[in-house]
Amino acid sequence: MIPTHCPYCALQCATTLHPVARPGAVEVRPRGQGGLCRKGWTAAEVLTVPDRLTTPLIRDGAGDLVETSWDAALDFVAERIRTLQAAHGRDAVAVFGGGGLTNEKAYALGKFARVALKTANVDYNGRFCMSSAAAATNRSFGIDRGLPFPLADLGGADAVLLVGSNIAETMPPAVAHLQSARDSGGLLVVDPRRSATAGLTSDAGGIHLQATPGTDLALVLALTHVVVQEGLADTTYLRDRTDDPDLLIRSTASWWPERAERVTGVPAATIRRAARVLAAAAPVHGGRGLFILTGRGAEQHSKGTDTVTACINLALALGLPGRLGSGYGCITGQGNGQGGREHGQKADQLPGYRSISDPTAREHLMRVWGVDELPGPGKSAVELINALGTSDGPKALLVHGSNLLVSAPNLASVRERLASLDLLVVADVVPSETALLADVVFPVTQWAEEDGTMTSLEGRVLRRRAAVPPPGEVRSDLAVFAGLAERLGSKGFSTDPAEVFEELRRASAGGRADYSGITWDRLDAGEVLFWPVPSEGHPGTPRLFADGFPTADGRAHVVAVDHRPVADDLNAEAPLYLVTGRLLQHYQSGAQTRRVPELAEAEPEVFAEIHPRVAAQLGIGDGRPVRLRTARGSMVLPARVTADVRPDTVFVPFHFGGAEAVNELTNDVLDPVSGMPEFKACAVEVTAAALP
Ligand code: SF4
Repeated sequence: MIPTHCPYCALQCATTLHPVARPGAVEVRPRGQGGLCRKGWTAAEVLTVPDRLTTPLIRDGAGDLVETSWDAALDFVAERIRTLQAAHGRDAVAVFGGGGLTNEKAYALGKFARVALKTANVDYNGRFCMSSAAAATNRSFGIDRGLPFPLADLGGADAVLLVGSNIAETMPPAVAHLQSARDSGGLLVVDPRRSATAGLTSDAGGIHLQATPGTDLALVLALTHVVVQEGLADTTYLRDRTDDPDLLIRSTASWWPERAERVTGVPAATIRRAARVLAAAAPVHGGRGLFILTGRGAEQHSKGTDTVTACINLALALGLPGRLGSGYGCITGQGNGQGGREHGQKADQLPGYRSISDPTAREHLMRVWGVDELPGPGKSAVELINALGTSDGPKALLVHGSNLLVSAPNLASVRERLASLDLLVVADVVPSETALLADVVFPVTQWAEEDGTMTSLEGRVLRRRAAVPPPGEVRSDLAVFAGLAERLGSKGFSTDPAEVFEELRRASAGGRADYSGITWDRLDAGEVLFWPVPSEGHPGTPRLFADGFPTADGRAHVVAVDHRPVADDLNAEAPLYLVTGRLLQHYQSGAQTRRVPELAEAEPEVFAEIHPRVAAQLGIGDGRPVRLRTARGSMVLPARVTADVRPDTVFVPFHFGGAEAVNELTNDVLDPVSGMPEFKACAVEVTAAALP
């Protein structure tokens, strides 16, 4: 029996793996109190899927991917890298990582890019995930830890405001922590769709704020306006713990609820009632606590950073951050979405969650890595993708743990950019949509086949443990980095995750995400360690901000923000909003969960949720084909007619590939602060269609 954690989302539920008769297979059981969702229970299926990649592949003269040896594949890739960098410079090679990689792999990926390739072009799919929340919390609090408190703290709160988060489907065991708020009538959910989570508001007087897509920012400004205007703000907290209370008050002055109603569609009376429920739960008014939490629904917009900032400002107005039993947090999605953004696979960061533009941080990492130069900041994910194959852009891309041809926005453009490359290399466990386009494919280990660490959405560092040997020729991503680095003349890349973690500890020492006091021995002994842990005698830091914020003046910084429309807003040709989201049965691009029979049978194909009124106007019946057309492209898919969506909204899950990939339609316009694409709202035309 091997104790480890679920391979999927950032909740990282505790599991044990038990041997079974089939080679390479295990049985998954829950460990501890939390239980597992359906994805977790069936996770072992992915270890033995029939099309598991087990041998390196290389594209032959006929254009087919054929089996080859590790040495031949590594030699080929190293030679192409040398040739392309000699002809076009170091930045001609780019690396793209993933938020599901272990901390050790994420660290090694960033080091490989900057030390072995010496390229500035490295970023990862977390840019599509929680980058807006990360940018906002860094801006306001001086640090980004998804939840700066243990998730279990939610269990004592009178109210929880979820803005664009559907945890009842994305991480069902977490719903148990909402019980106290639900019982108090204090569960408030902002979502244009009556999601499974929004549905939880109906059982005890909670509130579903079903705002127009792309208007969460206006709604939160109005909530803060009511708090301020009705004298409900925690003025002592604002004075003592923020840098500019007047700015916060002024920034919401024009957002009276009637104005917000015109923008959001949420009745002014509901906005006032919601604000009063939130205020009553705040400790300043004698409540037991209030949490404000954001998810991708609030964050995946071209104004995502500002929407999260508005949520932070509301939390500051009510005196929450740093107060026991209250706070603001981001519900991180990917399995290692938190750790993945701390160890240097982001374009603008070095390990320890340091800025790559900070001279002191650069000197520290050069010492740890034994080099005398480092590249500067590179392009964020979509900027990087859009530069691929252009005259001065990267000519080669190495992808680890990411399925860009499903998960990136505006897929026609992504496909064109990937096809224009001189070299595309993909390391993955299955032949994902992106791997099938590659020149070289490396078969790599997955969760139950590897040791390492992951960091949960709370900043808690967890051990991942190997339970079965990898099949065939499969090796760790660490072996790809080490093998290529050696061929490129770079030393110091270990294939042993324990050794990599020891180096990561030194690299993170003194940084914001300081892991230097965490050892595998401490984790294996069962210690519960939340970063920062700056020494081996340190107990970890479950809660941040109790004594101040890690800003220059120790105060939270107020940033004034204002509403602006969706970039690709409604027009005569495209009069509805397209929003994308998740399903209980699938995880991210679906590369893993679409291969699990039980999950695939439950949700086998993409669909479009359409309101009955719209369906009647267009003559579309339930299950009948509809065509969705945006400025980027069109697709035909079956309709699900449901009153769970607003009449102005069409919802499509994004877990499907090929002709079912809704990101063919989404907009790649970016948030100017975080680089987040606007996945969550664009104008769409809906018509009845014939089956393709
Ligand atoms: Fe796995 Fe997340 Fe489900 Fe837990 S909630 S079992 S971590 S997918």
